Amino acid sequence: MTKQPTTPFVIPVGMLPSDGRFGCGPSKVRDAQLDALASEGRRLMGTSHRQAPVKKLVGSVRAGLRELFSLPDGWEVVLGNGGSTMFWDVATFGLIQQCSQHLVFGEFSQKFADAVAAAPHLGEPIVVACNPGAHPEPQPSDADTLCLTHNETSTGVAMQLTANGTSSGAPRSNAGDALVLVDATSAAGGLAWSPSGVDVYYFAPQKSFASDGGLWIACCSPRAIERIEAIAASGRWTPASLDLKIALDNSRADQTYNTPAIATLFLLDQQVQWMLQHGGLQWCAQRTAESASIIYHWAENSSYAAPFVGKPEHRSNVVATIDLEGVAANDVNVILRHNGVVDTDGYRKLGRNQLRVGMFPAVEPSDVAALTKCIDYVVDRLRA
Ligand SMILES: *Cc1c(COP(=O)(O)O)cnc(C)c1O
Repeated sequence: MTKQPTTPFVIPVGMLPSDGRFGCGPSKVRDAQLDALASEGRRLMGTSHRQAPVKKLVGSVRAGLRELFSLPDGWEVVLGNGGSTMFWDVATFGLIQQCSQHLVFGEFSQKFADAVAAAPHLGEPIVVACNPGAHPEPQPSDADTLCLTHNETSTGVAMQLTANGTSSGAPRSNAGDALVLVDATSAAGGLAWSPSGVDVYYFAPQKSFASDGGLWIACCSPRAIERIEAIAASGRWTPASLDLKIALDNSRADQTYNTPAIATLFLLDQQVQWMLQHGGLQWCAQRTAESASIIYHWAENSSYAAPFVGKPEHRSNVVATIDLEGVAANDVNVILRHNGVVDTDGYRKLGRNQLRVGMFPAVEPSDVAALTKCIDYVVDRLRA
């Protein structure tokens, strides 16, 4: 592999995808969302989040997500500022009682476990880990909280969370009475799941929801609400900005504790409505499955590319990780970027010669097909 900088060259225009954004978050925002922000959204921008128009927007997001996920009665959609990383801190204060079990199989699941390990008011977390490229299974334990990741964005591994999925289909089966917390940051809206085995399904809007970062959203079961209320009543010290009971009370009033980014909420709402209009979560999941089938099929049949995740049932439909051999992924990414095809870089800490492709619902499956053609073109030229 050459260490010299690659000289950029041009990919024929007819070969390029209609949109070159393949990042895993931030990810492609559809033009129609941005157009709506510039038209209807114009009246909301710069207005108070304590007044009816913005409260209506928050209400629409909450109701839309409830419908998209078919949340059972008693579930509530709670939101606050700070993104999923902040929600890990929120959970250490407001959801974990004493001891949590964490399935660790990549950077994001590790970070949550680290946040808990550092919290002085909690016991040492139980970490069940495996090498990147697969996922571990929950172990029987006395933990009061089980922490899963629906889609490990750093490695492209997804867990099955549907009612009739395999082992993890009923995550609670091994969890006893533990509350089941699912980091669905990159999965939510792009992969199917069933609320039956889950208590908190949390995410941020810059991945499958094609919005901007900075917000966390948590769908909470009645058991989760009970836990939130019990911990709040226990008198545990909690910074107000991380206090889930305060967030819950504000969400019930279609507000946030402090000022939210209105554009982020607006773009999120646009995407949720778009998903619902096309057929809801099932349509979204079919669309990402189609994109995934295109890219994995291509990689399996390529002389120089291969899916990183060994077991097909572990391969994510929203984040594909593709190992390259005989050509430097970085060189490929430099040429792609020069041609407006961006953010196909592997997760830096995984440290593999790898491409990583976001295939969220906003991404056209035909653009994923075009991307594979562009990669072939670039690699042919680089190796010539
Ligand atoms: C992106 C991501 C996060 C971090 O989200 P932020 O909103 O940037 O804090 C956490 N978990 C997973 C699985 C992610 O993909």
